[in-house]
Amino acid sequence: MTPEQRREIKTRIEKRMQELRITIAQLEETSRPVSLDQPIGRLSRMDSMANQAISGQRLSDSKRTLMRLERALDRIDDDSFGICAECGEDIAPGRLLIMPEATLCVDCAE
Ligand SMILES: [Zn+2]
Repeated sequence: MTPEQRREIKTRIEKRMQELRITIAQLEETSRPVSLDQPIGRLSRMDSMANQAISGQRLSDSKRTLMRLERALDRIDDDSFGICAECGEDIAPGRLLIMPEATLCVDCAE
């Protein structure tokens, strides 16, 4: 990996972390427990409970990705960054650009 690639990956990580923080804040709003006191019909209550479950799932996915990105950012200046944790080969820079949180090469991830 060239220093330019490393810099570009770093920029992408920071950008995605920013986007994820916004998404997480929005999802935290929509995944709040449905208030049972609200005078809404049974169907719309079921709708909002379903929406809440979906938001909750997306929220935990987003939080997990954010954590992985934070770890990737911590490691990006280390020599071990971009090295597959399984086989020790270089992870393709193109893969890291799309998925900077990846710790496995394409072969080992499969
Ligand atoms: Zn590997």
